[in-house]
Formats: sequence, C-alpha cells, structure tokens
Amino acid sequence: MTLLYVLWLFYHSQNPVSGCNLFIHLDIHSQLLTQEQTIRSAVECGGVGLHSGAPVCVRILPAPPATGIVFRRIDLDGFEIEAISRNVARVSYATSLMKKGVLISTTEHLLSAFVGLGVDNAIVELDNLELPILDGSALPFVELIQKAGIRKQRRPRKYLKILREVEMREGNKFISVHPADSYSVSYSINFPHPLIGKETLQVELVNGSYLRHIAAARTFGSRAEEKAMRNMGLIRGASRENCIVLTREGIENGPLRFPDEFVRHKVLDLVGDLALLGKPILGKIVADRAGHAMHTALVSRILRDKTLWAEVTLPEQQHDSVNSYSAHAAVGSSL
Ligand SMILES: [Zn+2]
Repeated sequence: MTLLYVLWLFYHSQNPVSGCNLFIHLDIHSQLLTQEQTIRSAVECGGVGLHSGAPVCVRILPAPPATGIVFRRIDLDGFEIEAISRNVARVSYATSLMKKGVLISTTEHLLSAFVGLGVDNAIVELDNLELPILDGSALPFVELIQKAGIRKQRRPRKYLKILREVEMREGNKFISVHPADSYSVSYSINFPHPLIGKETLQVELVNGSYLRHIAAARTFGSRAEEKAMRNMGLIRGASRENCIVLTREGIENGPLRFPDEFVRHKVLDLVGDLALLGKPILGKIVADRAGHAMHTALVSRILRDKTLWAEVTLPEQQHDSVNSYSAHAAVGSSL
C-alpha cells in the first residue's frame, strides 16, 4: 500500500461525499495533428475477453490512409467490421459491434488507445469474438502500439468539428457536447461507495495528456454484484488481475493507480466509444453518470444531424497553434 493510497483513503474517509474534483491544466500551445497516422509494423498480443472469458489473439496491422479502424475476424474467413457508429450492436457493460450477424465485443479500450495515440488507420485481426481485457485499462494496448511505432501519412486528417450544442438526458444521467477548438471531456460519477462518492475529472486530450492521465485507469466492479453478473454470464473472464474489485468498504486489490481511477476509466471508455464517430472530434463533452449506452447514443445523435458539425482539415503550416486553426479550417463534405 503506497503512501499516496493511504492519504487518499484518509481523505475519503473524511470526505465520503465530496470526493475528488480535479481539473488537469495542460499546455496552452496544444498541437493538433494535421495528417492521418497509422502504425509502422504489425504487433500482437493475447488474453481473455472480460465478458466471454474466451481466449483471443489480437494482431494490429498498418493500414492505408482513409481506412479508419477495421476489425477482422480471422476465425470467420477474415470478415471485416468497421469501427463506426452504424455497426454498433449491443451496448450494456461493454460496446459491441455487429455486421451481418458477426460480433466483435468490448471494443472501447483498444479504440480509446488508438484515439489517445492519434492512430487513424489500422486493421485489427482477432480470432475470437471479444477483445482481450488485459489489465483492464488501455495501457497494454498503448504500449503495444508504441512498440509498433506510429507513422504519419500523406492524407490530411479530417476532424469532426462540433458547431452546435446537443444534450441528452435519461433520469439522472446526462451527456452533452459543445463547440470547441480541441477535444476535452468533463466527466462526473456518483457511486454510492464510501471510497468513491462524487468524482469529477476535466481533461483536454492534447499533448500526451491521454497517456499521462487516462490510459492506465482500470475498469472496476463490485464483489456484491459479482455473483449475479457471473450467473448472467457477463463477466466470465473477470479476475483480480483485470479489474479493481470493490468490497463493501474498500478495495480488494489495491493500490489504485490514481486516487480517482474510477472516473478516469469512465473517460477512457467515453473516448473509446466516441471513436465510433469515425473521425477525431473537436468539441467538449460533458457527462454525468453516463455509460456506454449514452456514449454511443450521443455518437449516433451527432451523426444523424449534419447541421451539428462540419468536417474540417487543418493547414499543415498552421499546426503549431490550436487557435489558429479556426480561421483556416476548410469545411469538407459530410460523412
Ligand atoms: Zn472500460
């Protein structure tokens, strides 16, 4: 147990309701990528799916410009499913894609890693129906992609720039998107657990902030709900090695990687789900107690209404300042 963890427990025991409220300030001179990127060489890893418990090998390959992220089931004659909103199938404890009855489950952590590293184009081959959970965060995927290396491509990167605000509400759950010249997230959770309570994280996803603040945050679940979820076949692959296990009063397998790791993981999931827009977004997302269903509902809401956004590219010579982009943005064709 680290000192930080002890201090954090102390803090929370004194402030069970107030929780954390952290704003991460990042460099003013943020840079946006002007061209698409892929990986330099093929890399692979293996593991089990969190929900299915199925063993799976994943191989990530470079892809030409304008490919996007495409999953390929090599156990089903190389059937391909593009990581886009149209293919979203079932959304409950994870986000799944489906095309012509073929499923790819739990896509959010790998897609989140691609967004965090600025990878636009890649083929993801897998030999089973679910991505591996690995350590429950996006960090192993990030390290795998970094091992492959990232290569700039010739095609200008097209951003989906939000022009008008949209909000969606469902009971006490909320999600909205607002116009902005960069990608930022403000996420709040409020879990009835003595160590969590209300946590809010605000982060601008530029200049490596994803790698520093989001990538390593792990998924979590509670012992109290475990039996019911196992009986429903929802967490066949869950273990203490791939998720934070909450007990009634604390955490079974600490220490946490961040004092507010829970809300950071929610941001990780959101980033992975918003990747289904098919383009990097320029906008500010505000979410409160949302989840995969609301994240993906926002994606389809945005794509459905073409007055909400414009496709823009950034002139290469202007890439040194985020603020200079708006004056030079070219409105392209719609998706
Ligand atoms: Zn997750």
